[in-house]
Amino acid sequence: MSPSPSAWFQCVAGCAGRHALNAVIYRCPRCDGLLEVVHDMDALRSRTPAEWRALFDARYGRTRYPYGSGVWSKMEWVQPHVEPDNVVSLFEGNTNLMAARRYGAQIGLEPDSLWVKQCGTSHTGSFKDLGMTVLVSSVQQMIREGKPVRAVACASTGDTSAALAAYGAAAGIPVVVLLPRGKISAAQLVQPLANGAIVCSLDTDFDGCMRVVQALTRDPTIYLANSMNSLRVEGQKTISTEIVQQLDWEVPDWVLVPGGNLGNVSAIAKGFLELRELGLIDRLPRIACCQAARANPLYRAYQRAAGEGRALAEQDFQPITAGATQASAIRIGDPVSLPKAVRALVACSGVVEQATEQELADAAARADRSGMFNCPHTGVALACLEKLVARSVIQPRERVVVISTAHGLKFTEFKARYHEGKHEFPSVYANEPVEMGARPEEVVAQIHEAISRALA
Ligand SMILES: *Cc1c(COP(=O)(O)O)cnc(C)c1O
Ligand SMILES: [Zn+2]
Repeated sequence: MSPSPSAWFQCVAGCAGRHALNAVIYRCPRCDGLLEVVHDMDALRSRTPAEWRALFDARYGRTRYPYGSGVWSKMEWVQPHVEPDNVVSLFEGNTNLMAARRYGAQIGLEPDSLWVKQCGTSHTGSFKDLGMTVLVSSVQQMIREGKPVRAVACASTGDTSAALAAYGAAAGIPVVVLLPRGKISAAQLVQPLANGAIVCSLDTDFDGCMRVVQALTRDPTIYLANSMNSLRVEGQKTISTEIVQQLDWEVPDWVLVPGGNLGNVSAIAKGFLELRELGLIDRLPRIACCQAARANPLYRAYQRAAGEGRALAEQDFQPITAGATQASAIRIGDPVSLPKAVRALVACSGVVEQATEQELADAAARADRSGMFNCPHTGVALACLEKLVARSVIQPRERVVVISTAHGLKFTEFKARYHEGKHEFPSVYANEPVEMGARPEEVVAQIHEAISRALA
């Protein structure tokens, strides 16, 4: 009998302490370091690479619960200590890997080079669903094992709270969401309200909400769902396996991802590293972490290291106060997953690029003109792509995957402001409605003129 898959929390700060995945802990209890989920790789080697590929392909997008989920189709690699019956899945993942041929050609890439992984066409409209299904399933498992967990809580301004509220509602577990009053959009407030979460609108900013949620979750019966919770990384990392699977088990040359708290850049690297360790791929892609210029502490650290001709190291980093950016989900000046992200970028020959407000808005709008509908964070990644191609860091023939992290429909205010030309910069790709009367001949004549302009 081969050993069955198992995994545990392990401290990444050097003390290497191990803890069970059903322990209610978020940081190393010994040295306060970040935790990471580590899998028993020998147990996972009991299947050959060909057998894993065949298993994942057989489960892909099928009906059997929970294996039809993009995340739970890789269950053995993700969270082997949840009983299938305790999984709380909304069949997240399995998102489209879109061939961005027209936009790719416009920015100087070969026809089959550019792919956009549409992670935002998911249950709550962002890729946070991937991690949240793992966290809430783990909590459901703890509850069924008799652990006294009464609720799950997070501080968030948007996508995390929407995902937590949806998965909590699917499980019937109470959810507490702490939001900064007046600093979130209507869509971001409505999602957790609709799902029946306890929505607390606090008279403070995001950091103030974080302080409160940390005080709240000192009570071990209230489980903390914030980004330092490394169970979420296990769900997010399935993006990497899914990309490789969708490319018929080939490795892309580049993966670009917008970065704020940096959990996701770490997760994507972890996914590729484990794929290589288990023999499903034989090389790693390069990773580009893409930041908004107003929230760019990792970019600054990368520049500091590059300026001295060194690889990025943790000591290069200094926290900043992040400024207001349209890419609100990555407005973070002191990312919680920094140590993991530095390791990830070093392992994957990573680069860090940044995009200004105008660059991210124009890139999103330009790509929209080829049929996409991009959120501002995806705009950051696309703007960085354009810059890296222009500087020949990315070559025209290389195969590039851009992670689209949220659905544009969650950010209609951003898009409306752009097309109404209401920014402090000119909107290069603005498209406004044409005001017309209602007399058929006149309207028809105006439409003919407009078509001629579009074809010019
Ligand atoms: C959370 C989030 C990110 C950034 O992920 P991090 O792990 O914080 O770097 C990017 N885009 C969207 C839409 C997000 O919700
Ligand atoms: Zn430790």
